[in-house]
Amino acid sequence: MTPVSSSVEPVELAEVDAFDHECDVLVVGFGVAGAAAAYEAAAAGANVIVLERASGAGGSSGQSGGELYLGGGTGTQKALGFDDTPEDMYAFLEKALGPHADTEKLRLYCDGSVEHHDWFVARGVEFKHTLFEGQAWMPFTDDGLMWLGENAWPYNDIAKPAPRGHRPPAPGFAGNLLMQKLEEAVTAAGAATHTDTVASHLVMDGGRVAGLVARRFGAPVTYRARKAVVLTTGGFVDNEEMLAHHAPVLVGLGKVSDGLDDGSGIRMAAAIGAATRRMGVVEISMTALPALVARGMLVNGRGQRFVNEDVYPGIYSTHAILQEPGPYWGIIDEEGFESIPPGDLWQVQPKYVEETLAELEEALGMLPGALEHTVEVYNRHAENGEDPHFHKDARWLRPLKGPFAAVDPRDGFFGTGAGRGSGAAGFTLGGLHTTVDGEVLNVSGEHIPGLYAAGRASSGMHGEGYISGTSLGDGSFFGRRAGKAAAREE
Ligand SMILES: Cc1cc2nc3c(=O)[nH]c(=O)nc-3n(C[C@H](O)[C@H](O)[C@H](O)COP(=O)(O)OP(=O)(O)OC[C@H]3O[C@@H](n4cnc5c(N)ncnc54)[C@H](O)[C@@H]3O)c2cc1C
Repeated sequence: MTPVSSSVEPVELAEVDAFDHECDVLVVGFGVAGAAAAYEAAAAGANVIVLERASGAGGSSGQSGGELYLGGGTGTQKALGFDDTPEDMYAFLEKALGPHADTEKLRLYCDGSVEHHDWFVARGVEFKHTLFEGQAWMPFTDDGLMWLGENAWPYNDIAKPAPRGHRPPAPGFAGNLLMQKLEEAVTAAGAATHTDTVASHLVMDGGRVAGLVARRFGAPVTYRARKAVVLTTGGFVDNEEMLAHHAPVLVGLGKVSDGLDDGSGIRMAAAIGAATRRMGVVEISMTALPALVARGMLVNGRGQRFVNEDVYPGIYSTHAILQEPGPYWGIIDEEGFESIPPGDLWQVQPKYVEETLAELEEALGMLPGALEHTVEVYNRHAENGEDPHFHKDARWLRPLKGPFAAVDPRDGFFGTGAGRGSGAAGFTLGGLHTTVDGEVLNVSGEHIPGLYAAGRASSGMHGEGYISGTSLGDGSFFGRRAGKAAAREE
């Protein structure tokens, strides 16, 4: 494959005649991880500049659902009557983010989660004391707390369930509100922001990172960082070459990003010998409506179920794309479809409606009897409130009866076709190998002096799984730690 990415080779300090700007800590990228790092570095007394290639703060964080995975007994959980402990939170996440979750980072994250919740509240991020109880990728309400599969099998056997999805009070995409509050906090803490500025090369003083070279409207701009550079540039889902090399499962799927996740921070650090970790680990979200498949079923191209459809939807999405033959179908009956609350329906419409399963499986191109068999087994047990294959919770179980509908995830959501095409989208979770304090390690496992990273530019606490809220969650948590450590650097 012909390389398409630009050069990221470092520049030697001696090659820079004079720096245009100087600071103690230079944070690159103003998403949630950059905001958290910049705030803490500035609060610790460092002189901080945040570089952002876009014309304002936000990044993918600003376009996100704003869900933050927090628990262990937060004030919001307590106000709604939920007892939770760091141990239950850890047990859930170790399973859900696994196999191979980073247990050292995960332990710190769970033990520090109540404090991290209070840190957001102190920065003006409100979590309303109301619970969203439906099944959704994202509620179109301003509820402050939601379930993210903690009460679904097998997780409810592993840890005492408690809802841990904390949300700022905005319907749907609440990331903008989250980033607005964090941007205000960063500015109030005294950090300066330079927008429209794309970082392109690290500046090296021997083995130490001493600053970087950027471009603003085509002209070079140089930055001297007396203490450290913190890379919070996001992941690499928008870099087709990196995807093909490291996470090819996402090639051809939609992008869960702001369009600027080109992996530039990862590449700049790799060019000076930084190690990467878990570059093939990804988040995948299918446009298979959670409220619909929970009330009906999700089947593969053979007409077979493969999961309890009440899990966190990223889990059935990842399982489907990685392990099941497509095309995938949401199957439901008329009664089930009509019982979906309008706010959770996301304007999804059936592709086929037929009186009988025989007619439906013919329309779907399945082997005669395949879907009939699946529904017959499902109904026989649903009658008794049981799902012996996959243990979907009894509240979602009901025998399905005609007329039946099939919904195609490739049709997307909202009638506008959000997600139309492949039926799934994703983002990357692997990145620079860092310590729990964000120190970037080289391939020999040693800290590269003067270099830190957090958020999706780094590999966080994820193993091979993902739960909503853990990206904004670990990006901000370990971003804070990186900012504090960078401010301490001599
Ligand atoms: C629609 C959508 C919904 C989502 N919902 C959720 C959710 O509810 N909960 C959750 O946890 N996660 C969610 N995610 C994922 C989450 O938003 C991201 O994984 C997370 O925001 C990454 O944070 P970050 O700080 O690492 O990167 P970003 O927020 O992307 O910030 C990186 C910043 O760096 C800038 N940048 C990049 N390269 C350079 C450079 N060379 N020079 C200067 N600046 C640069 C970018 O412009 C960007 O502003 C969602 C994502 C999307 C797109």
